[in-house]
Amino acid sequence: MLLKIVQVGDPILRAGTQPLGRDEIRSAEIQQLIEWMRETMRDAPGVGLAAPQIGLPLRLAIIEDKADAPELDRKPVPFHVIVNPTLTLGGEMVEQMEGCLSLDGFQAKVRRAKAVKVEALSHAGDPVTIEADGWYARILQHEIDHLDGHLYIDRMDTRTFTTVRNSLRFGGQ
Ligand code: ZN
Repeated sequence: MLLKIVQVGDPILRAGTQPLGRDEIRSAEIQQLIEWMRETMRDAPGVGLAAPQIGLPLRLAIIEDKADAPELDRKPVPFHVIVNPTLTLGGEMVEQMEGCLSLDGFQAKVRRAKAVKVEALSHAGDPVTIEADGWYARILQHEIDHLDGHLYIDRMDTRTFTTVRNSLRFGGQ
């Protein structure tokens, strides 16, 4: 089932989220939700989707990136779920163009840590530690921001804000 993706201005995107217990994660309801979020993210298409973006204040997000783009420091990341994540940022920062399914049609340059460490629970409720860098680290920071009620526009270089169409036309400068 395709879920409706909430657009910027809806208070749910700013509300913050509630953690999930291990038994809740394993429940039929949450497993069904994960499947619907996966279908919704692939249809959009996107590389990440956080529960507030489909209107739910839950500390859960999904990630999958099929692209292989060395010039963007981007490698394929298999589908996975992060629940109740905590984020540790590396020291080095990088700036790249970023978009969001909840700000459809726009992009901007956002400075983020080049590498991160994330501790979370998996789709099965098991503890996982993720060490990521490059584009994957950016996706993790973007999705965990959603769980804390933040959007990339809170962090963007405002003068680089552009439509995707103009970004392609003018090179996102
Ligand atoms: Zn987003």
